[in-house]
Amino acid sequence: MKILVPVKRVVDYNVKVRVKADGTGVETANVKFSMNPFDEIAVEEAVRLKEAGKASEIVAVSIGPATAQETLRTALAMGADRAILVQTDAETQPLAVAKLLKALVDKEQPQIVLLGKQAIDDDCNQTGQMLAALLGWPQGTFASKVVPGDGVLTVTREIDGGLETVELTLPAVVTTDLRLNEPRYASLPNIMKAKKKPLDTVTPDSQGVDMAPRLKTLKVVEPAKRKAGVKIADVATLVDKLKNEARVI
Ligand code: AMP
Repeated sequence: MKILVPVKRVVDYNVKVRVKADGTGVETANVKFSMNPFDEIAVEEAVRLKEAGKASEIVAVSIGPATAQETLRTALAMGADRAILVQTDAETQPLAVAKLLKALVDKEQPQIVLLGKQAIDDDCNQTGQMLAALLGWPQGTFASKVVPGDGVLTVTREIDGGLETVELTLPAVVTTDLRLNEPRYASLPNIMKAKKKPLDTVTPDSQGVDMAPRLKTLKVVEPAKRKAGVKIADVATLVDKLKNEARVI
């Protein structure tokens, strides 16, 4: 069973992002980039399925600039077998990414596409759902547990106020939530080995996909500054403030 794992290169989650002065986006110059955290979880889950003998090959895919090769090398160091870079300097919006992934699925014929539930740069939470719709495949989103069976995949989903378990007929699309697993760190020997694993580069044109944006960013703004807190003398004052100022009790 082949698994396709799309991995996005995003501004590292530890970076405090700054909005550009002209409000068109966030500063990306001299900023650390790394693999989208939900995609690390997807790679980890695919590797665990392979280690358990349930998957035969893991193909990591990234759509982005040449530097996204680093992200693919990280996926290879974690245990993916080979990688495909769809190289483009265009903005990668979910619909175009989903169309490119569909083109690669048609060619690669994986049984599972394992994506992150959302990319932490655009917070769209759309690509997996769009891909499932384009393919006409079942989807298990926000997965916190994935159990392969005979031609099926049982996925436990994190939903508001609880968990939902669904059985998907393969092939299927799964998107990962935070509690699915804890991704491993790539060991030095595996980082070295990853340099020799195959990494193919293609273009959106060669896949017949038009990257023209369908969404236009009107403006990006910093969150409102929080007011400084106050120190209060005792519990009675706190209760009084909660009752008469905040009016929450
Ligand atoms: P989004 O819908 O943008 O929040 O992204 C959801 C998931 O789609 C991500 O966690 C990735 O697995 C995948 N994805 C989105 N954009 C890309 C990209 N440019 N390259 C590879 N995978 C992507």
